[in-house]
Amino acid sequence: MEGLTAKERHDRAIRAGALSADLSARDIIAVAVTWIDTSGIARVKAVPVQRFSHAAAWGVGASPVFDAFLLDDSILTGHFAGGPTGDLRLYPDLDRVTPLAALPGWAWAPADRYTQSGMPHPRDARLLLRRLVDEFGADGASLRTAIEFEWNVARPDPLDPDRFHPATTAPAYGMARLSELAGYLRDVLTMLRDSGVAVEQIHPEYELSQFELSVAASDPVSTADTAVLVREVVRATGTAHGLRTVFGPMATADAVGNGGHVHMSVWHRGVNQMSGGSGPFGMSAAGEGFAAGILQHLPGLLALGCPSVASYLRLRPGRWAGAYRCWGLENREAALRYISGSEGEHARAANVEVKAFDAAANPYLALAGLIAAGRSGVRSEATLPDPVAGDPDHLDPQTRSARGIDPLPGTLAAAVAAFESDDVLAAAFGAELVDTIASVRRGEIALFADATAEQITAASRWRY
Ligand code: GLU
Ligand code: MG
Repeated sequence: MEGLTAKERHDRAIRAGALSADLSARDIIAVAVTWIDTSGIARVKAVPVQRFSHAAAWGVGASPVFDAFLLDDSILTGHFAGGPTGDLRLYPDLDRVTPLAALPGWAWAPADRYTQSGMPHPRDARLLLRRLVDEFGADGASLRTAIEFEWNVARPDPLDPDRFHPATTAPAYGMARLSELAGYLRDVLTMLRDSGVAVEQIHPEYELSQFELSVAASDPVSTADTAVLVREVVRATGTAHGLRTVFGPMATADAVGNGGHVHMSVWHRGVNQMSGGSGPFGMSAAGEGFAAGILQHLPGLLALGCPSVASYLRLRPGRWAGAYRCWGLENREAALRYISGSEGEHARAANVEVKAFDAAANPYLALAGLIAAGRSGVRSEATLPDPVAGDPDHLDPQTRSARGIDPLPGTLAAAVAAFESDDVLAAAFGAELVDTIASVRRGEIALFADATAEQITAASRWRY
C-alpha cells in the first residue's frame, strides 16, 4: 500500500483549516482525537484547533505501546507490541469531526494510525475494519450495522466512590425510572442529537439503574465511530449530573450485565438479503451464509466481542446475554437472534443481532471479526442449522449436543484458544494482530488469576 502523498497532506491541511475556522466560530478550543486500544479502552490525544490543520496533514504522535496496554493501564512486557521505543501518527478522520455538545469547548474525531513514514499501522483496528469493509464491498455487497449499548447509572457514595451505588432503584422498564432520571435522560438525548447521533430508542433495562440506547444503522466504520461517541456523550452527560456510568460488562458480580449487541444486515444492489429470499425466515443465500459464518466462528469471535475477564461473568444462561451457540427467531437466549421486523417492513428492518457481545469490546475489532466470519460463510455458501425456539438452557444436555447447541466459551482463556485456532480470523487479521490480541487477553487473565468475581467486577466496572 502507498504512503500518504504530499498532495494528500496538502489537501488534508486545507480541509482541516476550514473545519478549524468553523469550530473556533462555535467556541471550540480543541479536538480530542481517539483510538481504541486492544483491551477496548478509548485513548486520546487532543490538539488545540489552531494546530488541527497540522495534525490533519502530519498526524499526532502516539506511542505504539498502547497496542500492549491492559485495562488497568499496566503494559505487557517482553512483547513486540510493547516497549518505550517508536512512534505512530494519529490521523483524525476529517469526515467525522464532531462538536461534543456534552463537553463544551471540545470536538472529537476518530483516528487512523499510520507509521511515521505514512504507511498504515498493521495493528490499527480502524484501518483493519475499513479494509474488510472494502473487501466485502468488492464482492458486490454492502453492510448495514448498529451497536446498541446498555449501561448502569450510579450516584457516587462520597465515602466509597468506587462502589456501585445505583442512581435509581425504580422498576425495570419502569416509567418511574425514567421519571426519576428524566433530566439526565433528556440531556443524554439532547447531547447525542447535537453531536449528530440518530437515536432510535432509549429505555430503562432489567438490571438496577440500567438503561439501553439504540441508534440508526449505518456502514460499519461509522457504526464503530458512533459507538465511541455514544459512550463518551453518555459518560459526560452523567458527569454533568453528578452521576457515574458503568459500561463494564458487570456493575455488580451477580448482576445481569451490560450488552453491546451488534445488529447486521447484508445488502445487495439496495436489497436487504436478510428477507425476501427463499432461505430460513426469508434470508437469501448470501444473508443465510453471512449469519451461518458468524455462528460458526462465534467461539473465536468472543475474544473480540467479550474481551474482558468480566465478560464471562455476564455471559451466562438466563440473562438474555446469548450464552449458547445457536440462533433463533426473536430468541433472546440465542447468541444470534434473527429479527424479522414487523410485517410490511421486513425488507427494511430484517437483521441478525449478535447478542453475546458486550460493551467492553473494541467496536472496530468486533465488527472486523464479524465481517470476516460472515464473509467466509457467504463465500462457502454456509447454511444455518435449525433455529432454536425457547431457552436452550432448558433443553436436556443430550438434545442440546445432538442439535449442536454448544455453550459458548465460559472463560476468556477458552475464547482466546478458539480465536488462535480460527484460520478465517487469522487470515483476515494477520498473525501479528492475532498475537497482540491474544497476548493482551492473556495479560488480563493473569491479572485476575486469583481474583474473586467481586474483585474482577470492581476492577473493570468503570474502565470502559
Ligand atoms: N442485558 C442483557 C445482556 O447482557 C441484554 C438484555 C436485552 O436487551 O435483551 O446482554
Ligand atoms: Mg437490552
